[in-house]
Amino acid sequence: MPRSLSLSQLRTALHRLTLEQARDLQRELSSVIQELEQQTEPLALPPRKGREILQVQRVDDRLYQLERVRCGKPNCKCVGENAELHGPYWYAYWREDGKLKSRYIGKNLAPNSP
Ligand SMILES: [Zn+2]
Repeated sequence: MPRSLSLSQLRTALHRLTLEQARDLQRELSSVIQELEQQTEPLALPPRKGREILQVQRVDDRLYQLERVRCGKPNCKCVGENAELHGPYWYAYWREDGKLKSRYIGKNLAPNSP
């Protein structure tokens, strides 16, 4: 058995499907497409623990997010049951050579805003 089918083999197989199989396949295919689309999305950020995203702004191919964060220090106010996260602060995200980069901006997104 070959590990992957050629497109023409796939097409041949498609024409042997029952209606039920075809419907199943359609559902599956649309979720596969969705997954692939998310992978090619330039700034799909992985969900991160201890972060709360309050606001998102997209400017060109950069993403700006207002986040409340957990710093990771063991005895900080941001740890524990009634944790109080730091911030909110703005962070910038972008891709460089396929790698996700981020930069801390601060309390205000625009330098001159109040
Ligand atoms: Zn902290």
